[in-house]
Amino acid sequence: MTANDLLAESRNIWFPVVLRLDNTTKTLVIGGGEVAANKVSLLLATDTRVVVISPTLCGELERALKSGRLEHIATQASREVLEAQLPGARLVYAATSDRAVNHLTAELAQKMNIPVCAVDDPDPSSFITPAIVRRGPVMVAISTSGAAPVLARRIRERIETLLPAGISRLSRFMQGARGKMAQIHPSPETRRRVWENFLDGKGAEQALAGDETGASATLDRLASDEKGGGEVWLVGAGPGDADLLTLKALRLMQNADSVLYDHLLPPDILDRVRRDAERIFVGKQKSNHALPQPSINDELIRRAKAGERVLRLKGGDPFIFGRGGEEIEALMEAGVPFRVVPGISAANGCAASSGIPLTHRDCAQSCLFLTGHARADGTLDLPWHTIALRGQTVVIYMGLGGIASLCEQLITHGLPPTWPAAVIEKGTQPDQRVITADLTSLPRLTVEQDFRSPALIIVGEVVKHRVVSPEI
Ligand code: SAH
Repeated sequence: MTANDLLAESRNIWFPVVLRLDNTTKTLVIGGGEVAANKVSLLLATDTRVVVISPTLCGELERALKSGRLEHIATQASREVLEAQLPGARLVYAATSDRAVNHLTAELAQKMNIPVCAVDDPDPSSFITPAIVRRGPVMVAISTSGAAPVLARRIRERIETLLPAGISRLSRFMQGARGKMAQIHPSPETRRRVWENFLDGKGAEQALAGDETGASATLDRLASDEKGGGEVWLVGAGPGDADLLTLKALRLMQNADSVLYDHLLPPDILDRVRRDAERIFVGKQKSNHALPQPSINDELIRRAKAGERVLRLKGGDPFIFGRGGEEIEALMEAGVPFRVVPGISAANGCAASSGIPLTHRDCAQSCLFLTGHARADGTLDLPWHTIALRGQTVVIYMGLGGIASLCEQLITHGLPPTWPAAVIEKGTQPDQRVITADLTSLPRLTVEQDFRSPALIIVGEVVKHRVVSPEI
């Protein structure tokens, strides 16, 4: 079985739920060693009656027994004992060191439709226990569907550090205010927005710190302010590597009602947008605009006026060759509120991922960002005398199509034919490719190696200072 088969299989089998274990339920743990103690301690965090079947108990279970928190049936888990004890159990852990006993338990429980977990053996089990991060009512469960428990624990450690201890106070506060909020704002959409504003602002801080009066006042104010007005967030998504998204971009991506995006954005980034947000592809591939710019502007305005929080997600930075300025002007004219969030531009991303610095004390005191997008007739009308300069790095966006003419103009206007130049295709992405050459050979090499958009050209002596990390 290949890794892919395993993945496909594990995706289909396991399904996460949160089970109610109150004081009317009984749960069974078969086994009295440390593994069993582990499962017992998970169960003791709930109100369930825990019954342990085992001839002996380890120290930890002995202590739990003495404090009256569990019931002990001091015998081997034979078929008769199991058949007598299993009925009525909400769930069962088979946690002995004897595989045959674990299998028998699983078999009998499955017959009675009782969820059962044979520890360290997903095969006969009907459920597996995830790694859990718990803060009062807030629970995060992490599972790799049994594929890699150590990885699950590692993820848990990271989540532990993300969730402040006060989050249980915060969730209890929110639970307490739910009824009141439902009365003030019957629309679930509006309520969601009020809660999001609450979580993004000082209300959450107050509730986290245990200041319930302050948190209540903040919530009341937000609830009465909420007019249901939409807005547009113009957000830079960076050059393609999802890890290069800013925290602010991620947060807004999680809160948006709809997202308008163009073709440069890889699925990995779009996957991070709130799952129920409506997705609208607006194209922007050279000469293949799914929606022309004025229609994009109209769509942003129409949606914001209908009360939506619209995410306008753009590759790189929205204000670098992204027509972000034009969109914002249209929004301003229409009186639509907006926010702009910068992103890592292709120049920064490609420089870092290819190891080519954009400036260098020895050879480049300035750096120029240039668009190489040619006019319809193929010509480029640029002030070449300010571009073809030594001591300067020139970064050319959208220049691949016109690369031959670009390089030729740079030579005509004074740069040597041997002047260093590079092209980075799909910078920061796993399949990034880089060519370093000079102005004379670069156009030919990009054709020979079939370089495609998105690609960025970097011209200047910085290319000679390219650094490449040794293999790790
Ligand atoms: N606003 C964007 C640029 C949009 S113009 C930004 O700040 O990055 C589109 C051009 O950006 C592409 O034609 C290409 O030249 C460049 N580009 C964008 N992403 C790129 C990437 N991952 N690798 C190389 N070039 C990229």
